[in-house]
Order: sequence, then structure tokens, then C-alpha cells
Amino acid sequence: MAECPVDCIYIGGRMLYIQPDECIDCGACEPVCPVEAIYQEDFLDLAPPEFASFEAVNAEFFDRTGLGSPGGASRVEELDEDHPLVAAWPTG
Ligand code: SF4
Repeated sequence: MAECPVDCIYIGGRMLYIQPDECIDCGACEPVCPVEAIYQEDFLDLAPPEFASFEAVNAEFFDRTGLGSPGGASRVEELDEDHPLVAAWPTG
């Protein structure tokens, strides 16, 4: 989150969500993601197949929670909720 120049990485219950309308695709977050789960939009075809639905998951999270595009994670409270696909994702 500290790497993001536009503060568009938001905290959910189990996952951090990137607000796609605010992201400027700079790629600064990609090398620092501890689980190597971030792929720039132009390189989504390089992502593992199990990550294929996460572009939509990130976008839908902001609609489902009503966050929309608040203009920065520091402007909103942390949410203890997730997109249903993330909530059902196996742990461990
Ligand atoms: S690629 Fe997007 S989410 Fe990642 S640091 Fe840049 S603006 Fe933020």
C-alpha cells in the first residue's frame, strides 16, 4: 500500500483490493506484493489461471461494498468484508 502513488489499494477482510478506476497502472506494487498476486492490466495473460477472475473481483468489490471510487484508501475506514469469491477462498 505504501508503494502506491495514488493510494488506490484498499483493505478488505482477507485481501487488499485495487480500485481499477483509480489505479494508474504504474506497476510499483507488483514487485513488493508478498504473494506475487499483482499483474499489470496489460500482462494479465501472464497470471496463473486461478487468478483469472480477480480482475472482476477487484472491480466488483467496490460496487458491492458501496465504496465506489472514494479517491484514496486513507479517506475511508478499513472494511472487514470481502467479495464472495474471496470469502470462500480456502485458507492455508
Ligand atoms: S499499479 Fe495501481 S495499485 Fe499498483 S501502485 Fe500503481 S497505481 Fe497503485
